[in-house]
Order: sequence, then C-alpha cells, then structure tokens
Amino acid sequence: MAEEACLKRKASTDIEDLRAHHPGTAAEGIFVQSSSEQWRQYTLKDLDEFYRRSKFGCMNDVKCYHVEYDSDCTHNCSFCYRLGYVRPIKPSKLTESVEEPEKIRDTAKALAQKNYEKRLDGKGDECPGEVHNCISTDAFQHKSIVQLTARTTTRALLENGSLVSFVSKGVPYDDDGWLSWTEIFVRFPRLIFWQTTCASMDEKIQAKLEPGAPPPSLRMQWLTSVVNAGVGHVSGRINPLIPDLNDSPAQVTAAIEAYAKIFNAAPVSVEADGTKSRNFRIAISYVYGTEVICDNIWKATKYNLWPYLEKTPVALEGGSPKFLVDKVIRRKTYNFAIDLGKKHGIDVQICGCDNKDLPEFAGHHCGISARSGWPDVPLMDAKELRKYAASR
Ligand code: SF4
Repeated sequence: MAEEACLKRKASTDIEDLRAHHPGTAAEGIFVQSSSEQWRQYTLKDLDEFYRRSKFGCMNDVKCYHVEYDSDCTHNCSFCYRLGYVRPIKPSKLTESVEEPEKIRDTAKALAQKNYEKRLDGKGDECPGEVHNCISTDAFQHKSIVQLTARTTTRALLENGSLVSFVSKGVPYDDDGWLSWTEIFVRFPRLIFWQTTCASMDEKIQAKLEPGAPPPSLRMQWLTSVVNAGVGHVSGRINPLIPDLNDSPAQVTAAIEAYAKIFNAAPVSVEADGTKSRNFRIAISYVYGTEVICDNIWKATKYNLWPYLEKTPVALEGGSPKFLVDKVIRRKTYNFAIDLGKKHGIDVQICGCDNKDLPEFAGHHCGISARSGWPDVPLMDAKELRKYAASR
C-alpha cells in the first residue's frame, strides 16, 4: 500500500471506505498513524510495541500492559489527565489503525498467542497476561475506526486467554457495535473487567466537564447491557469529583443510587466453592490538579480549582507538580460514599494510589487493574485462562 494512498485516507472514519482502499493485498502487518501524522506499516515484530507496560500506580505493581487505539480522544474532558502535564503522555505506537478489520484481528491474535507461549515459559514479566484498553484515550470514543480496532483486537486477546480491562465514558458507536461488543461480553464474562465512569449524573454538569462523551443516561443503558451480558467484574466510577462542583451529598447520592440500581437488579451467581462469580462495585476519587489541569477546567467551566488544593505537591508527573484536593474534603466525601454504598449493599472503593495520605483507606483499589483491583476474586493462571478461552 503506497503511503500517499494512506495519507488520503487520514481524515476518513468510514469503515467501508477504508476497506475499499485497503484491498488486503498488503504484506503482513497493519497501517497506523503515528503522532507525527505519518503513516507506516507495522509488522508483527513491530507490534511488540503495540503493548506498553503501564507505569501508573497499581497497574505497575501487577505488570499490567495497556494499548492505545488513538492519539486523541473525542470526549474532550476538561480535566483530561492525558493533556494535564507540561509533557503530555505519549500515545503508544498503535494510534490509529486503518487496515482491514480481519487483518487487525489476525495480527493481534498472533501476537497474543506469542505472548501466551512466553507466559507459559515463565517469561510472563515480559508479556501481557492482562491488557488495559487505553490509558490516555478511550476505546469507546465516538470514532468508528477506533471502536472497530478495539473490538477486533479485544476479541483476539480474549480468545487467547488475556484478561482485558476497560475504563470508559463511552458506549458502542452504533447498533452493530452494540451487538458485537455484547456478543464478546457474553462469550468471555470471566476475562473482562469493565468500568463505566461518569463525572456527574447531572447532564448539565457532565456536558461541561465531558462535552464529547455520551450523556449519563446512555452510559447507564450500556452499563445495564454489560451487566446483563454476564460480565463478572463490573465497576461504576464516580470520577473525578471536583469540590463544590459535583461533590455535594445530593450529587454523590444520585451517582451511587444510579449504579446501585443497576447492580442490585443483576443476577449474581455463586460458584460451587462458594465464591461469587459476579462482583460489582463503585469506585470514587477526587480530581487532582496540575497547572495545566486547573487551566483547562477554568477555560471550560470558569471554575477555579486552586483554592481547594493542598499547598504541597505530592509528586512530579510529566514535569508538572501534582496537587491533591484538601484532605478534609476528600475524607468527608469518601466516608459518606462508603456508608451510602453499605446501605445499598454495594462495596465503595477509593482510588488507593491517589489517596495514600489517608491511611484509613489503605488497601482500597479502584479496580482499574484486574489483578490488583479485585484481590478477593480468584483469578485464573495462564493455563486455566487458555482452557477457559478455548471452551468459549
Ligand atoms: S475520556 Fe479520558 S482520555 Fe478521553 S478526554 Fe476524557 S479524560 Fe481524556
């Protein structure tokens, strides 16, 4: 495939159009658009860079990998952590795939198989047993090509015994996507760790904070579909809380009750050994501030985050000092949320990584990573994973 032809396709997000211009005669590999706007063809060997070791908090502890399907994100959140630093997070090499879906699937499958063999050889540190779909972009953003690439790749990973975790503000792009994703979730419920996240259930506030993302009501519809598909590990995130903007007791109550209603209506089966095969939780956490994040929130909402932040930064991330919200505010809201969750029979977890200064919440995990976030759930080893995947 000539590079000029690829460049012509750059702006297109229409799958049929992309298919027509990528007739399947290209050598093995896939075409991706790098952040420098250049197209190039990646071979299977190159695709080792498809996975990147996650360096964030608990994901680093359990050697989780992540994959990015785009260098951008249509949700355009004002608090976006990806854009929140002096040196923004770099996307991994697979930023936008434009090859036929079948080829993407086959390539991902071959890669997942190769990595599986390494795991069996005891070289698991160097290959993914768990893949998180996107850290600095959303796999369910409103771009058909991103969702299609994520779908074909996710299916290939699951078929080869990888755990796949998501955090998303999105819903499937169209009816076809809705059905296809549901089919995947029905097939591999024990390998998927799904989190729907929403800054607020109030559409006016949500639209200011996450202007490109679907409204909360649509997200709750999709979450209901995920739960009904039998996915075993599902979490509703309330994130990020911003003081005096979306963290009042009434606002937190609305979010907890929206999630609890869905989770409490779902069937929970119990395995022969007494363990629950379905686990639902709510995860909650406050925003943190850097100069760029505070500026971006100000531009979008005319809200000044600075007065609510502690005076001393807790870390330097991406070249930017990172400030947490005042402890007293965080502690009060977290305790309120945990107590309310108990009333509804739902476990509420705090993000342990961003609240290390609150010792009473030590041991809390938001569940972003399957292996660290759900320690009470017995996870399958590499052999069991493959056996399970092969049986589906
Ligand atoms: S969904 Fe995530 S990556 Fe996308 S804009 Fe929002 S915060 Fe940024």
